[in-house]
Amino acid sequence: MPVDTELYDLLGVPPSASEDDIKKAYRKKAKEHHPAKNPNDPQAAQKFQEMAAAYEILSDPESRALYNESGMAGLGPGSGGPGGMGDAADLFAQFFGGGATFFDFGGGGARRHKGQDTEVPYDVTLEDLYNGKSVKMNMEREIICSTCQGSGARGSTKPKECVHCEGKGWTFIQTQIAASRYGTARTKCTECNGQGSKLKEKDRCKKCKGEKTVEEKTRQEIFIEKGMPDGHRIVLAGAGDQQPGIPAGDVIFKLKTTHHESFERSGSNLLTNVKITLSEALLGFSRIVIKHLDGRGIRVSSPPGRIIRPGDSIKLRGEGMPTHKHPDQKGDLFIVLDIEMPDSQWLQSVNKQALESLLPSKKPDMDPMPEIVDEVPYEEGDIVDVRARSFPAGSDFFDQGFASQFGEGDEDDWEDDDGDDYDNDNMGGEPECRPQ
Ligand SMILES: [Zn+2]
Ligand SMILES: [Zn+2]
Repeated sequence: MPVDTELYDLLGVPPSASEDDIKKAYRKKAKEHHPAKNPNDPQAAQKFQEMAAAYEILSDPESRALYNESGMAGLGPGSGGPGGMGDAADLFAQFFGGGATFFDFGGGGARRHKGQDTEVPYDVTLEDLYNGKSVKMNMEREIICSTCQGSGARGSTKPKECVHCEGKGWTFIQTQIAASRYGTARTKCTECNGQGSKLKEKDRCKKCKGEKTVEEKTRQEIFIEKGMPDGHRIVLAGAGDQQPGIPAGDVIFKLKTTHHESFERSGSNLLTNVKITLSEALLGFSRIVIKHLDGRGIRVSSPPGRIIRPGDSIKLRGEGMPTHKHPDQKGDLFIVLDIEMPDSQWLQSVNKQALESLLPSKKPDMDPMPEIVDEVPYEEGDIVDVRARSFPAGSDFFDQGFASQFGEGDEDDWEDDDGDDYDNDNMGGEPECRPQ
C-alpha cells in the first residue's frame, strides 16, 4: 500500500490500478476537465494541471514505484526546489508540446475581474424577427448565499488558515519529466480545495454548506426586437453565475434565424416565390398571392395588358423586414413569379385546333434546310445533372443566381436591381416588365 494515495485519488483510480487503467482514467478525466470545455469553471485549468501532473508520475513505472514507496518526497530532489510560476509554466509547456500558453486558460493564478460570460445560441423564427416577441425562460445560476453573504461560514465564525498550504491555496508537487529530469508544479491544495482557509464541518453555513454560493432558479425575459439581424447578441448583463468578490458575468443570447418555408431574408429585404398559372401569366391576375409574416393576406393585381414571362419578379415596396431600432422603416418584398404550365390532362380536355388558332404560330422548319437531316428519338433528360457534371460549380449551379443575390451582405445588389429593373415613375412601384 502506498504511503500516499493523493495522485491516485486525482485520477479516480485505486493504487492497485494497472497502467492501462491509469491511462484510460486520465484520458477520460482530461477530456472532461479540459479548460476549453469548461469555460465557466474557473477551477478547470487547475484541475486539469493536477491530473496531468499526477498522470505524468503514475504512468512511468519508475516514478510510480518511487511515489508508492515514499510519496512525493520519494521523487527526488527536483530541478530547483519550489519556484514560482516560471517553473510550473516551464513544466506544463513540456507536457503540452510547447504550448506555453496553457496558463491563458484563466486558472492557475491570474485573478479575473469579472465572472465568465455565457453565450447561448437562441433559435428565432422569421415571424419573431418581423413581429417582435418577448420570451420568458427559466434559468439556473449560482448566486451568493444570502445566509452567510458568501463567507461560507456559520454566524460570525472565521475560517482558519489552512495548515497544509499555509493559506496559499496551492502546494508544490515534484514530478519527473524524463528519466533524469524533474520539475516542480503548483497544484491546488486538496486540504482546503484551493481556498487557503478551512472551516470545520460544524462552522459551515447551513444553507450553502460552506460552498459560498447556492443555486437559484430565475425567470428571465428577453426581447426579440423587430428587425434584429441574424447573429444579434442580446446581453443580460450580470445574469451569469455569481462568485464572491467579483461581479457576475453576462448571459448572452445569440440569435440564429431558423429556416423559413416560404421567405428568405436579406438584410431588410425579403424574397419569396409565387406560382401563377399560364392563364395568369398571359391574362393577368388580381388575388391574394401570399400570407405575410404577420398573417396579413397580400393582394396584388398585375397591370392590364402585361404578359409575365418565366423568371419575372416583382417588388412590393415596404413589405420587407422592419429595420432594427426603426421598425417603421421596412425593406421591400421581392416575389419571383413561377409560371405553372398546364398538364396533359388539361390538354386532352381542350380543342387543340381551337387552341392553336388562338396561340402564336409555331416556328417553321429551318431555312435553308441543312443538307443532311437525321431523325433522332425524343427522350426526356435532366439538364441540371448534365451541367452539374461539367461545371465544377456543382449541382447548385442553377441556384447561384439567387445565391449571389441573397448571400449575406449583398444588399447593394438589391439597390442596383431597384434602379435598373423595377422602378418606374409612372407605375408607382407596381409590377413592371424587365427591359428586353
Ligand atoms: Zn452560506
Ligand atoms: Zn490548503
